[in-house]
Amino acid sequence: RAKSTAFIGLGRMGSEMAYNLFSKKFAESADSHFVVCDAVPESAVAFRQNLLSQFPGVNIDVVQTPEEAVCASETVVTMLPSSPQVKAVYCEANGILHALQLLKRTDSERTLCIDSTTLDVDVARQVSDNIVKAGAQMVDAPVSGGVAGAKAGTLSFLVGGTEATFLQAQPILTLMGKRIIHCGSSGAGLGAKICNNLVLGVQQIVVAEAMLLGQNLGLDPLVLAGVINSSTGGCWASSVNNPVPSSLLDQSPPCERDYEGGFATALMLKDMDLATNIAGTSKSPLPLGQAARDFYAEVVTRRPDLANKDFSSVYRHLNEI
Ligand code: NAD
Repeated sequence: RAKSTAFIGLGRMGSEMAYNLFSKKFAESADSHFVVCDAVPESAVAFRQNLLSQFPGVNIDVVQTPEEAVCASETVVTMLPSSPQVKAVYCEANGILHALQLLKRTDSERTLCIDSTTLDVDVARQVSDNIVKAGAQMVDAPVSGGVAGAKAGTLSFLVGGTEATFLQAQPILTLMGKRIIHCGSSGAGLGAKICNNLVLGVQQIVVAEAMLLGQNLGLDPLVLAGVINSSTGGCWASSVNNPVPSSLLDQSPPCERDYEGGFATALMLKDMDLATNIAGTSKSPLPLGQAARDFYAEVVTRRPDLANKDFSSVYRHLNEI
């Protein structure tokens, strides 16, 4: 079995992460071999062509199934939408688990799975248990930093798994990110990610509310954003992802591009659902989180045109209610 690295899920985040991983690994060793796979095969083909156009000697193959990717590789990184896709890629027919069962025990023991998807903590723990029972290693390693951080290679990875598996994953994650944080045992990376996005989801709505209120009171958005960002209300949602065009001087948030790119409103709703579901089972009250979750659900239902736009587009919905 070749010592290749596989990447499954070449969407907005995955394509940027895989580009950094492969180009830096290729620069380290020109004999590196890479494998890519996506449910939309054209995405994998386009990724391969792009990589080849910039690194003509690179050895990269497109495969059709996660099973083929694992049979060819010792390291597998997955970046998928959420729990159903992770279950499918790891545990269903033609999946990673099946491949590990087909491999010789010594080969499956050399396999490291890194899942960077934001998904349900319990599902991630079940998948990881199955992978470990099949002899391989696995960490949950969701990310913070968005598409811009994925492109720049400055993501924060929030990692859950044993100390030994964390140390094995760390050099690979360093090729795609700047801060690699071991949060605890399996599922702990996801717990941290879900808590962070709970804060972000609430903040983005209240920044949109305040920016709209301020304008209705006659304030210039540039002045108002400047006040908030140099006062106690400042946060990422106001200083980097401000939802109002022309409110930031030296940044180009998604609102300047009709809310294109960035983090989809539907994905933020998914993350708020992850938080409210796990809060239910862990008996943690989330009065603001629940209200924010319900607001994202309202936006996605009433404004399907905003579902795939950046979640700061909640401002547009508020403004047009
Ligand atoms: P995306 O929808 O752009 O990409 C997902 C990719 O997975 C797509 O290319 C899709 O075709 C592929 N895919 C789906 N099912 C598959 C399967 N069964 N087999 C193989 N490939 C499959 O999503 P994204 O924005 O890249 O986000 C990915 C994950 O990262 C999500 O969990 C999201 O919550 C998280 N995240 C996103 C951002 C962001 O700013 N976009 C930031 C932090 C974390």
